[in-house]
Amino acid sequence: MGWAIALHGGAGDIPRSLPPHRRDPRLATLRRCLDLGTAALRAGHPALDVVELVVREMEDCPHFNAGVGSVLTTDGTVEMEACVMDGNTMRCGAVSGLSTVVNAVSLARLVMEKTPHIYLAFHGAEAFAREQGVETRDPSHFITEENKERLRQAREANRVQIDYTEPIKGQEAQAPPEDDNSRIGTVGCVAIDSAGNLATATSTGGLVNKMVGRIGDTPVIGAGTYANRLCAVSATGKGEAIIRHTVARDVAAVMEHAGLSLQDAAARVVAGVPPGNVGLVAVSAAGEVSMVYNTTGMFRACATEGGRSEVGIWPDDDDDGAR
Ligand code: ASP
Repeated sequence: MGWAIALHGGAGDIPRSLPPHRRDPRLATLRRCLDLGTAALRAGHPALDVVELVVREMEDCPHFNAGVGSVLTTDGTVEMEACVMDGNTMRCGAVSGLSTVVNAVSLARLVMEKTPHIYLAFHGAEAFAREQGVETRDPSHFITEENKERLRQAREANRVQIDYTEPIKGQEAQAPPEDDNSRIGTVGCVAIDSAGNLATATSTGGLVNKMVGRIGDTPVIGAGTYANRLCAVSATGKGEAIIRHTVARDVAAVMEHAGLSLQDAAARVVAGVPPGNVGLVAVSAAGEVSMVYNTTGMFRACATEGGRSEVGIWPDDDDDGAR
């Protein structure tokens, strides 16, 4: 069976006209993070450590919508959120509303390991971060010029925006500018180690121009993030749709109750969400990998001990796209 790993850097309406200077740094980061995770699995590190390691690396990269690349709220502030879950024990931790924590995913893990709770948010989560002594920075550290521009464009169009270009249902559509720079995305990683432990982690800044206090799918166990003994799942896309469809938990439930393989379960769940709303990466206890989306594309990468290794954005980059 062996180890397997998959990661994503967000799903959405990613046009093929995405210019190389916007595309290539993200692909390079995906490759680097895949290599990092693969090396850790080969060295025998537990799946939970590996997904945390990979997501931390992606949080530190301004090309993705998490950590230092987080998109901005209506007030121009950052509210980061993250989640981790260990499949075999079903222990999990989540955080929301962070404005100073460098690696939200590690704080989520500390919630899991050091508190009797699962989910801490806003000032309680920030206070816990201070108590634990995790690395923090002034809120301005997380606010990039690119994200100020994304917020400006979203405000002008009067829309809440996934980190791509599709407006949320009910809001007016607007064509993206030719060299639109808003193709960044939430990050996530799932893995199974050679001892059979499954784990998942997801981290995000949420949606551009989201209301202050808005919580998305990422930290909601069973929506954006879920793992049990059958599989580990990390989702991306429009959080409100992902929460409504309990996407991550549904993949596990379909495997368990309908007896489907990981790939069939993931394809069925994603097909049940309105088109343009969701993507996910998942691994199963049998070492299968699935990367499925009903959006134009998804920044993604995977590798298995059996020799599969892929990095891609659009469906024809591999054979696994749902469209
Ligand atoms: N799912 C995230 C959210 O709605 C956004 C994303 O995946 O890019 O907060």
